[in-house]
Amino acid sequence: MVLHRTRKARARRLNHHDAPVLVGPAQPLVLDRHGWLKPHPAVLRAPSPNADTRPSAQDICLLVLHNISLPPGEFGGPHIIDLFLNQLDFGAHPWLPRLKGLRVSAHFLIRRSGQIVQFVSTYDRAWHAGVSCFEGRERCNDFSIGIELEGTDYTPYDERQYEALSQLSDTLRSRHPLRAVQGHEHIAPERKTDPGPSFDWDRFAREANWPRRQLPPNCR
Ligand SMILES: [Zn+2]
Repeated sequence: MVLHRTRKARARRLNHHDAPVLVGPAQPLVLDRHGWLKPHPAVLRAPSPNADTRPSAQDICLLVLHNISLPPGEFGGPHIIDLFLNQLDFGAHPWLPRLKGLRVSAHFLIRRSGQIVQFVSTYDRAWHAGVSCFEGRERCNDFSIGIELEGTDYTPYDERQYEALSQLSDTLRSRHPLRAVQGHEHIAPERKTDPGPSFDWDRFAREANWPRRQLPPNCR
């Protein structure tokens, strides 16, 4: 019962952060030298145990975009954060037990509100890409930063998510030698479909100032 109350309290606390938040030039996102975003009204820090050391912390060259919603198609609520913290309440929804035993994370989650949750230092390896390949290099987790967008392949992403993503991308590029952005679907095409057709790569290219040649080919 104590555990149950704790979970409910955590859910309330996190939902409180679902209120619209603005990420804008007035309050830029700053990454500290340990790879964590500095305190900011739009940022929540939730360190995940699902991370380890990269083979080389100098070789962080790829940004990987994903989507996630738990249960699929439902937004808000604590389940994504709880999954990445290995604290998921499998009894909360009949779909969730299939995730038992999964140990995953991403560096960041951008919620529908534009809130950014950071789980792993950018200098460490998060477990988001799985079996994957980019330009002939396997194990993209070794050299990438993973960003989850709360969403689905076919639900348009929220305005506020594009704004937060664009700001976050700027901030990450100022510290790491990122030279490409890929979707999970591009580095693991046999297994994955995210972020899906709902992600507007042209808009992202424009707003976050990425040359098209550094983004996946054949995206609209
Ligand atoms: Zn993914």
